[in-house]
Amino acid sequence: MELSANAKINLTLDILRRREDGYHDLQMVMQAVTLADTLTVTPAQGAEGQAVSDLHFLPTGDKNLAQMAAAAFREAAGLGGEVDVSIQKHIPVCAGLAGGSADAAAVLIAMNRLTGAGLSPAGLAKIGERVGSDVPFCVLGGTALAEGRGELLTPLSSLPPCHIVICKPPFSISTPQLFGRVNVRKIVRRPDTAGVIAALDAGDLAGVARRMYNVFEDVLERRRSAEINEIKAALIDCGALGASMSGSGPSVFGLFDSRDSAQNACARLRETYRDVFLCAPAR
Ligand code: ATP
Repeated sequence: MELSANAKINLTLDILRRREDGYHDLQMVMQAVTLADTLTVTPAQGAEGQAVSDLHFLPTGDKNLAQMAAAAFREAAGLGGEVDVSIQKHIPVCAGLAGGSADAAAVLIAMNRLTGAGLSPAGLAKIGERVGSDVPFCVLGGTALAEGRGELLTPLSSLPPCHIVICKPPFSISTPQLFGRVNVRKIVRRPDTAGVIAALDAGDLAGVARRMYNVFEDVLERRRSAEINEIKAALIDCGALGASMSGSGPSVFGLFDSRDSAQNACARLRETYRDVFLCAPAR
């Protein structure tokens, strides 16, 4: 079975509080995008399932999120044998785009179909929680408000049709380090989450775009922050209605109503960066 696994971007990312258990309560408007990995899921050749990808540095065995999802499905549904998963990666790794979670979600969907288990998307999302907090959103897709650690989902009105340019600069940012740097009481700038939701309801793309923000942008190291801001400025300069960092970065995206402007932005960013993608909202 062949499937595609869509990446996500954060239209907003806010941190509401630090919990007793050490995790943070988040509030994020998430959007699935058409930038996607391609997965082939087949019954395992050997006694144990393998995950192989075209990126040599990704784990191949039970540390691959796709294999973790297969194991979680077997345990929760009590159905299904070992599977081999072959992954063509297009979503950059450690980029704030939930690439691994997208692969995990695709495997859950494949196992559900292959076994005829007939679990609902909500049932699959619940299984996905065991694999990672972005997996439930990746199962449901579309546009959603994600709360708690990201697993509490409320579907939202769809993002109006638009062109999305994503640029991943060539460094990675440690998510635990970023959380460590956030002092929830000292967050100065926050996204207008309610305003973004109202703009989605009104089908107002520009209204969504100008209210986007990611609170992690405030706690980046100075030189990282400068580079993220340069990419945002280039996107806006090329006509983006708004630009923001996705997840814990370093990917930055811009929303465009004009395809020509989005293509120009891609061309300009490709002069400096290798990982630049033009995509669209995925429903
Ligand atoms: P998020 O946005 O959810 O924080 P991310 O985009 O920052 O995710 P991923 O690309 O999902 O990060 O990968 C994170 C880690 O997961 C990497 O260390 C990678 O080695 C590991 N990993 C395991 N399986 C996969 C997979 N199938 N695809 C990508 N990464 C995987």
